[in-house]
Amino acid sequence: MTQTRYEAVIGLEVHAQLATKTKMFCGCSTAYGAAPNTQVCPVCLGLPGALPVPNRTAIALAVRAGLSLGCDVRGRSRFARKNYYYPDLSKGYQISQFDLPLNEKGHLDITTSAGVKRVGITRIHVEEDAAKNLHGVGHGTDTLVDFNRAGTPLIEIVGEPDLRSAEEAEAYLKALRDVLMFAGVNDGNLEEGSFRCDANVSVRPVGQAKFGTRCEIKNINSFKFVRKAIEFEIARQEALVASGGKVVQETRTWSSTQEKTISLRSKEE
Ligand code: ADP
Ligand code: MG
Ligand code: ZN
Repeated sequence: MTQTRYEAVIGLEVHAQLATKTKMFCGCSTAYGAAPNTQVCPVCLGLPGALPVPNRTAIALAVRAGLSLGCDVRGRSRFARKNYYYPDLSKGYQISQFDLPLNEKGHLDITTSAGVKRVGITRIHVEEDAAKNLHGVGHGTDTLVDFNRAGTPLIEIVGEPDLRSAEEAEAYLKALRDVLMFAGVNDGNLEEGSFRCDANVSVRPVGQAKFGTRCEIKNINSFKFVRKAIEFEIARQEALVASGGKVVQETRTWSSTQEKTISLRSKEE
């Protein structure tokens, strides 16, 4: 009996902070590291009746990102409310772009040991960041919320599922960071969370056209962890499928202490 060989399919979603002095819809500072809740106002706290006004520089930087990555830039794009309930999102929705994103249909050329490869970019839309939950810093096990990050301008760069290995994914991320830094769009600081990535990973038998079921590994903030998380996830899914099991679509996280991906929640559509 010959053993089935598998191939990985990977698509990355990158959140990159736009290098503005002020937030996406208000004049509060985006400076990193200030005392909690000192860079806030009614808009970014999500108080009722507050009026968000788009940051001109943020839009200009997002257009520049699109042009740098070969996108079609839309003359008329639109913001939408993405509703979800979570403590770090006090107004109950994130302002993001949905049906009319600013940029579409771009690409990025990456270089690996196998040579140069063109990777598609589906879309680059503009959105605001959420606040930050701080666990166990208050009384006992309480969680406190720092709203300094709330409303920080982001672009989300959604990549096509064109990547086939952890090496390609790492090369894509490094090339993307280089382009955004060179264009002055992003400061490239992974430790401060200015550039972070969700990795969608699936496997399929070599020769099969249809994609397998994907898992999404959330918020990976180092190149080393991206490589390790994807390598682990490919091996996990291959072993599962090879032994007759099925991959369930879910959100996972990389644990750097346990050196593995862990299930967070099954995916709600
Ligand atoms: P969601 O917001 O639910 O994550 P999106 O369509 O915005 O969905 O993002 C999907 C991401 O997952 C894209 O980067 C895409 O390339 C990737 N992707 C989609 N299907 C697969 C698959 N079967 N295997 C791996 N990656 C995939
Ligand atoms: Mg996603
Ligand atoms: Zn504000």
